[in-house]
Amino acid sequence: MTTIHTLGFPRMGAQRELKFALERHWRGEIAADELAAVGRALRARHWQLQRDAGLDFVTVGDFAYYDHVANHIQLLGCEPARFGFSGDEPALARYFTLARGVAREAGASEAGSPALEMTKWFDTNYHYLVPEFTPETTFSLADERLFAEVDEALALGHPVKAVLLGPLSFLWLGKEKSAGFARLDLLDRLLPVYGAILARLKAQGVQWVQIDEPILGLDLPPAWRQAFEPAYAHLAGAGVSLLLATYFSPLQENLGLACRLPVHGLHVDGVRAPEEIAAVADWLPSHKALSLGVVDGRNVWRTDLDAALRLLRGLHEVRGGSLWLAPSCSLLHVPFSVADETGLDEELRGWLAFAVDKLDELRVLKQALAGDPAAEAPLAQARAAIQSRRASRRVNDPAVAERLASLPADADRRRSPFPQRQSAQRDRFGLPPLPTTTIGSFPQTAEIRAARAAFKRGELNAADYRKAMEKEIAHAVAVQEALGLDVLVHGEAERNDMVEYFGEQLAGFCFTGNGWVQSYGSRCVKPPIIYGDVSRSRPMTVDWTVYAQSLTKKPMKGMLTGPITTLQWSFVRDDQPRSTTAAQIALAVRDEVSDLERAGIGIVQIDEPAIREGLPLRREAWRDYLAWATRAFRLAASGVADETQIHTHMCYSEFNDILPEIAAMDADVITIETSRSDMELLHAFGEFKYPNEIGPGVYDIHSPRVPSTEEMTRLLDKALAVIPAGNLWVNPDCGLKTRGWPETEAALRAMVAAARAARERLGG
Ligand code: GLN
Ligand code: ZN
Repeated sequence: MTTIHTLGFPRMGAQRELKFALERHWRGEIAADELAAVGRALRARHWQLQRDAGLDFVTVGDFAYYDHVANHIQLLGCEPARFGFSGDEPALARYFTLARGVAREAGASEAGSPALEMTKWFDTNYHYLVPEFTPETTFSLADERLFAEVDEALALGHPVKAVLLGPLSFLWLGKEKSAGFARLDLLDRLLPVYGAILARLKAQGVQWVQIDEPILGLDLPPAWRQAFEPAYAHLAGAGVSLLLATYFSPLQENLGLACRLPVHGLHVDGVRAPEEIAAVADWLPSHKALSLGVVDGRNVWRTDLDAALRLLRGLHEVRGGSLWLAPSCSLLHVPFSVADETGLDEELRGWLAFAVDKLDELRVLKQALAGDPAAEAPLAQARAAIQSRRASRRVNDPAVAERLASLPADADRRRSPFPQRQSAQRDRFGLPPLPTTTIGSFPQTAEIRAARAAFKRGELNAADYRKAMEKEIAHAVAVQEALGLDVLVHGEAERNDMVEYFGEQLAGFCFTGNGWVQSYGSRCVKPPIIYGDVSRSRPMTVDWTVYAQSLTKKPMKGMLTGPITTLQWSFVRDDQPRSTTAAQIALAVRDEVSDLERAGIGIVQIDEPAIREGLPLRREAWRDYLAWATRAFRLAASGVADETQIHTHMCYSEFNDILPEIAAMDADVITIETSRSDMELLHAFGEFKYPNEIGPGVYDIHSPRVPSTEEMTRLLDKALAVIPAGNLWVNPDCGLKTRGWPETEAALRAMVAAARAARERLGG
């Protein structure tokens, strides 16, 4: 019999129960034991769903009140000393302090203890809390939660597979907090604690432990690769069966290593690395369990079960009961259940499979492999859905394919090289040196949100909603005029979200009612789903922008979201390359840029904050990604005359390794985040001799603190030291939508003053 299991399950609950309980607890409305009761109930419900779907184990240890890496920081006894815990605080209170920091006491001069840093979990939009390591870091088996959850599941009568983040991935994902030391050196201290954990689990009666080492899919330094064999030789001593789990990325040079480690089974991601399945099946000794991730844990599409079975039948014949089936990775990254999507039409719903549905797919595959006739009906249903998706005109629009195929070869090139465009634009706009601008959004006030909500509920009609938004736009324009900014924006009041706003107006997108996935802590996002060919039927931003331009003589900058960011923050169709979908979105943006140009808008910004996070996990794959990603941007940006100025914006500035590609995007102006790094990150642009204009952020918009003119002057001087004055813009780090008006006005006033002072120094 084939064993079926899942690497992990969403924690939030079908209706985001955990989110709401957490937030109530943080507001002091419910006590820790009430929160714990919510957690316990969710786990019980989720395990039951796994059993109901016929899984051979329930997975225990994937639950977290904030983040699974943070769970391990407590489990392994390495809470950073800087939090100064006395040992008397309850574990959960300490846990939330690690996650959320200690607020500064009123009047205290100390900064409090900032939370652990948060960063993206591999190439997902889930953020984990980063462990901190110093040479003094020690480890101990310091938390009981995992064992208590195992007991819970056992008491409910479930067969249990526990899950742990492996020791090497845990160290890798952390950060060295002092110089001259390597966190890998901590491995020897860490392994005995893992050994003790495994022994405890074994004593509880757990047979299988899934030990996640996703870093086996990364380009690892030799020392890290070499550490695996001795580490796992150590863990083998615990006497519990280990399933080593890898995911997200091909194993490549680590494939042989993964197959020969002294564990009892190996899970591989058959969706991200289908080309490696045959090699793994060859290399992995036949007595070891081979867990194949054949159901996509990163995306929302129903599995083509026939195709999966074609692959599995041969393997099943050879390996028999040692073949296991699972989603490719934890189901943490997909929404809960399609059954909750009552707003989508039947056809679309039929194409989707969320976490609960994916468990069912595993059961059908298992039944089919066993020749169980119970598989017939669901297989037929899946087949029909796959065929309907393939044949649907909603998915395949011949006009879109036609247009892409017939693009002229130079469609992704501006008409003239940058120097010519720069002089045409200088003539047209006559901007002062060091022109000032902002990144696009102005404060999204409670009134704006209330108006939008009322409009969505049908309580505010379209005309009144328009009036309300125009009032906001007029206010934003008046403020910018009064401040003396040089290039204005309309403020994005009408936008809920920079991707959703465009997706709602484009063909090929749909939106779920309840398709939440955890982003960090209690925060969830509901990504759009791109199911079909993308096209634009009418202008999306022109009216608002033209209205804003009508209020001022200063240039009004149009504001669009770029194709890669849209792709990156959505669930994307899996029936064509991502590059094709990106190009389709790019053409829709290109049409919008042209319409703005025709309407007299001379400057258009195409935001691409997500271009870097789309980088593949393997460096070898970067070049290909960057080639199509930058082409998509250029397709969007190149349909305009020389004197139309294209800006782009990215909310970070670690560009060192991708500067040639950033330059190849050929935006006339790029604005980036640099203030938090004190302009240090700008040096790469200077050394590279970045050819086009650049606006390094001179103040951090992530806090309400108002920076002084002197601070910004200092940053501007640092920028002037590396960037030619004629190419330098002055702007904040990012959009201002999370800020309030008073601090926004004060900060921008100081920014304009800093720019003017610098101009005078340059002139005199
Ligand atoms: N134009 C957007 C804004 O100002 C850009 C947001 C972003 O960079 N993430 O909000
Ligand atoms: Zn930004």
